[in-house]
Amino acid sequence: MDRNVPNLCEGRGEIVETEAPIKEVIEEIKESGGDAVKFCYQCGKCDTVCPWNKVRTFSMRKLIRQATFGLTEIENEEIWRCTTCGKCAQRCPRDVKQIQNMIALRRMATGYGVFPAAVKPVRTASAGLAGDGNPFGEERAKRAEWAKGLSVKTFEEGMEVLYFPGCYLSYDPRLKKVAAATANILNKAGVDFGILGTQENCCGESIRKTGNEELFKQLARENIKAFINNGVKKILVSSPHCYHTFKNEYPEFMVNFEVVHISQYLFQLINEGRLRISKEYGKKITYHDPCYLGRHNGIYDEPREVLKKIPGLELVELAESREDSLCCGMGGGRIWAETPKSERFANLRLEEAVGGGAEELVTACPYCITNFEDSRVVMNYDDVIQVKDITEVLQEVI
Ligand code: SF4
Repeated sequence: MDRNVPNLCEGRGEIVETEAPIKEVIEEIKESGGDAVKFCYQCGKCDTVCPWNKVRTFSMRKLIRQATFGLTEIENEEIWRCTTCGKCAQRCPRDVKQIQNMIALRRMATGYGVFPAAVKPVRTASAGLAGDGNPFGEERAKRAEWAKGLSVKTFEEGMEVLYFPGCYLSYDPRLKKVAAATANILNKAGVDFGILGTQENCCGESIRKTGNEELFKQLARENIKAFINNGVKKILVSSPHCYHTFKNEYPEFMVNFEVVHISQYLFQLINEGRLRISKEYGKKITYHDPCYLGRHNGIYDEPREVLKKIPGLELVELAESREDSLCCGMGGGRIWAETPKSERFANLRLEEAVGGGAEELVTACPYCITNFEDSRVVMNYDDVIQVKDITEVLQEVI
């Protein structure tokens, strides 16, 4: 694309005029904290660890090079590939902020309403988030329906903890089972907890990664208002994405809530003697580290320690685990992108788990579960391996 000539692109259901001059690309990257592109010396280490190169050719190095000179074509699908897994940042010797750079480029694309075919569903998700606080466009009034019949109270000031299930556990039929397992465990442990129900909005983490900063801010402000109005001090989350944004991004709004992920909380409840494991679980399982729990927040031990406490359970490690964990492919807003079946990292992960002899692949993230369940169907693995959240395992042994 000639940067000095306005370009006609399809955006927001209409034809809009776009123009992204070189200077603007460079300025946007600078403003978004991605100025470190200039430190890149093109070693290519990022490409050696990027999961995309397991399924197709992709070069972060090349994208960084183009961005340095403001030559990125923002209508190019390549700027939407990054799942923000964080592997490249771990390996980069020059501390180039690859994730921030990709978000900056998407911010420009979003601003111009330029969405390549594969990421067009992002627009639908955005409309649902703006209107009803969830990416599915489901009614806000139905947000707490998952909790019916489970003895779950509405949060009141003074309760021990606010449970924030997030969008997927609130609406997705498969993940509602995880929300139910969590509520059952908390009740069994005697935890005084409540939910915000219709006052809850999407945390906004993933839509921010697609470059829609305004929508992220809107969702964050609404959640923060609800937390403050209800006297919330401690928030328990099931999703590492909620964990990440509440803990590391909401402080940008000058607030600080205590945030705990369910895997950490289970570990605490067991150690305090509030949760007793009374049954065996005679299965060979393996644990998948979600990127936003592991690499981005350093939570590797607690989920493993919880699983190790279950008698009869044999825990085997995946070849790529902990800091080297293979991304499921759903981060960075890619949960809403179309990924061809042959290019799904989750297929590789399932193969890895099956190859290691695991009967169950256990994890602690709704995005990972969604993707693995999908891959299980694609790969005809229905009778070969099961996919579970850590709460679904624990619920069976208490
Ligand atoms: Fe550039 Fe860092 Fe990638 Fe090397 S690892 S090519 S320095 S971004």
